[in-house]
Amino acid sequence: MRSNSSDRAQTPEALWKEEDLIGNERVRAMVLILRTSGCWWSKRKGCLMCGYNSASDSSIGLSDLLAQLKVAIGRYEDERFVKIYTSGSFLDRNEVPLEARNAVMNAFPSAKRILFESRPEFVTEEELSTLPNDRVQVALGLESSSNEILKKCIQKGFSVEDYERAASLLREKDVPVRTYLLLKPPFLTEKQAMQDTIRSIEFAAPYSESISINPLNVQKDTMVEKLWRRGDYRPPWLFSLFEVLKAGKNLTGKRVFSSPSGAGSLRGVHNCEKCDANFIEAVKRHSFSQDLKEFDDLDCECRGRWQTDLLLQGVMRTSVDVERYLADELLFD
Ligand code: SF4
Ligand SMILES: [Zn+2]
Repeated sequence: MRSNSSDRAQTPEALWKEEDLIGNERVRAMVLILRTSGCWWSKRKGCLMCGYNSASDSSIGLSDLLAQLKVAIGRYEDERFVKIYTSGSFLDRNEVPLEARNAVMNAFPSAKRILFESRPEFVTEEELSTLPNDRVQVALGLESSSNEILKKCIQKGFSVEDYERAASLLREKDVPVRTYLLLKPPFLTEKQAMQDTIRSIEFAAPYSESISINPLNVQKDTMVEKLWRRGDYRPPWLFSLFEVLKAGKNLTGKRVFSSPSGAGSLRGVHNCEKCDANFIEAVKRHSFSQDLKEFDDLDCECRGRWQTDLLLQGVMRTSVDVERYLADELLFD
């Protein structure tokens, strides 16, 4: 009988089905989160908001990855889009050995597109030469187009220029790029965060087929969680996400969308209990329709609180959760 840790190593961290777009075509997608030995950067310093290393296991090797892939193949129902996430870099051979990478590429014959995520340092001529470039899409987590924010607010461990090099190489090879941007890293006011993401959309658009806005979700055992617990950080408002998505649409012809995790909870992007569900539904609809009308007629009395937040943070020159400091009491989840 296998031990529990061996079972865990040979089982994907998560697997689910959803929908996505290939060009303008709405298709069924399978999302596979592989459990790996982890992101090399998270072992060194790590991004301030990243709690992914808790899902990793340094002992995981080729045989475990192949076993996880077998589980995924068993659940595959000819989805045309397959998305592979590793909580790290699919192109890092120390994390995903070449044999496992090749096995993934051969595992889903009906997939017209296979998306995976990688840090830019692994996007090289050599690695790209191992891939079926006509089927793959690479997701790059740029987060922000400001080197200062990458360094001081995220501790990303790469620069905007590293992203530019990787994205240009992918464009040269006709490999579509999906760029992830982080809405509201720590130490920025709500307004600064919106402005930074809007600037970043404008910057990333020429390199990207699509841009995914990830509002920060407070993950366990991270620096951001410490800030959040003591009231020095609040995840972004859904009002802010709306503004960013609207600006994105007006700035670029590219698909700019968001599939926020933890939305509607205290740890994720949220407004208030009364309006969260309707706002989140609108964000989901907009992901596919790209129609800004999805946001029309949506309002709530908490808009005033959002506006006060923007105003007070600006006047007080602080990124702390001003509302929380002013509140009488607050419950944590
Ligand atoms: S690069 Fe990605 S996986 Fe690695 S520490 Fe940063 S957010 Fe986490
Ligand atoms: Zn509300």
